Amino acid sequence: MADQLATEAPLDLEARQAFVEGVRGVVLTSADPGYDDARAIWNGLIDRRPALIVQCTGAADVVDAVNFARERGLLLSVKGGGHNVAGNAVNDGGLVIDLREMAKIEIDPIARTAWVETGASALQVTRALSEHGLVIGFGDSGSVGVGGITTGGGIGFLVRKFGMTIDSVIGAEVVTADGRYLRIDDEQEPDLFWAIRGGGGNFGVVARLKFRLHELPHFTGGMLILPATPETIAGFAAASQAASEELSTIGNVMSAPPMPFLPAEVHGRIVIMAFIAFAGDDAAAERAIAPFRALATPILDTVKPGPYVSMYPPEDPSYRPKAVGRTMFVDSIDASRAQLIYDRLSACDAPMRVAQIRVLGGAMARIPSDATAYAHRAKPMLVNVAAFYQGEVDREARKTWAHQFFRALQPSDDSAYVGFLSDDGQERIRGAYPGKTWDRLAAVKAVYDPTNLFRLNQNIPPHT
Ligand SMILES: Cc1cc2nc3c(=O)[nH]c(=O)nc-3n(C[C@H](O)[C@H](O)[C@H](O)COP(=O)(O)OP(=O)(O)OC[C@H]3O[C@@H](n4cnc5c(N)ncnc54)[C@H](O)[C@@H]3O)c2cc1C
Repeated sequence: MADQLATEAPLDLEARQAFVEGVRGVVLTSADPGYDDARAIWNGLIDRRPALIVQCTGAADVVDAVNFARERGLLLSVKGGGHNVAGNAVNDGGLVIDLREMAKIEIDPIARTAWVETGASALQVTRALSEHGLVIGFGDSGSVGVGGITTGGGIGFLVRKFGMTIDSVIGAEVVTADGRYLRIDDEQEPDLFWAIRGGGGNFGVVARLKFRLHELPHFTGGMLILPATPETIAGFAAASQAASEELSTIGNVMSAPPMPFLPAEVHGRIVIMAFIAFAGDDAAAERAIAPFRALATPILDTVKPGPYVSMYPPEDPSYRPKAVGRTMFVDSIDASRAQLIYDRLSACDAPMRVAQIRVLGGAMARIPSDATAYAHRAKPMLVNVAAFYQGEVDREARKTWAHQFFRALQPSDDSAYVGFLSDDGQERIRGAYPGKTWDRLAAVKAVYDPTNLFRLNQNIPPHT
């Protein structure tokens, strides 16, 4: 993180003025009223103070900002939805390309394609598509930025039915480190197109993405909260693995939050707060969801037919939790892992602690592992563990807890999904890109960003 602290060449006022006058978007400094809002990100721990935040209105602004940062030797961050826990969207003393104003969505319902500016949120795109009965699968949060989730991969409520978010990408427009604006796909700049689908923000600023859209005439989804026991945890994972690929689940085994929709006696108890998504007709949905309802008497069951967009309920934009977490892949949640999850969560006194279980497979697993930069296609299950903390007093203890929990569940495999990495270190970045994937990414990086201008990310240094 030494990079983060280094304010590079002091800004020459004249050059800065020329830059500010040249771009169409607003350029914020610490003196401006919108500055604090623009530098805030989801991770409440991160409090960085960039010298300039460029609120780009289009690709031309991105080109200018990339050129300015490169020519002035400024640290450069790219900020979309601001949700990445690593906090790389902002920096100290450098320049931030803020994409939030770039949120245009152009849908062609006949061709079933859409061009989306990457500052749009998953909710904005999902809402626009729902008017046409069409979808793209993003993640479990509507406020995540399209650019961030897609360059990482995108694993969400439709992953088993339609694959990862990157599996629906058929083209892109990218500003590279030398300030070129490239339209790319399988034919034009195919290596770069391969790399931006899973390689994160290493290769340039993706200004727009072209998606293939999916029809979703019938959908059933919602929240199912069950009491957690070792048996229901293992049963939940097994039922998710046994289900047809129309069904994707995200099971949060966690301390029940004091939410008004939960009975007071449940608050603080370990429950399975599951999100259930069935992309198919109503009768098939009922049959697919029955095994989950049979695991125990539900504490809450909101799973019902309805529009897919209802999976993204309103969020509080000021919510900025302080949490530490670890991500991993496992093969299954058998009885001993379920017991371990139950015991670790029960023994922890963090105000909120969670083990999130995502069963993979289906459409995402049918894509060859070398087709995109996400190579872990065969991994059957992803688990995230996390604990919230209150301040410096308990931060280290929570971090140790998360790390030990991770290692107890997954003693040997460092593989990871890059979208959920935080400050995990270089070994885990390598773990996101096994074998030849890493070598190919490093070679692509050497071509498109040889000086590592885009280094505030889960970094893949250029191959030398
Ligand atoms: C509450 C929450 C829920 C989540 N749920 C899921 C989930 O269900 N599935 C899943 O797959 N992920 C999920 N994530 C992870 C999320 O997809 C990643 O953290 C993603 O990077 C966030 O994108 P962003 O644009 O919001 O973040 P930012 O912090 O703004 O950006 C993150 C990084 O992405 C890169 N980046 C962003 N936009 C661009 C662009 N246009 N061009 C090039 N690089 C870019 C940059 O390197 C940047 O530092 C979740 C995260 C949170 C906080």
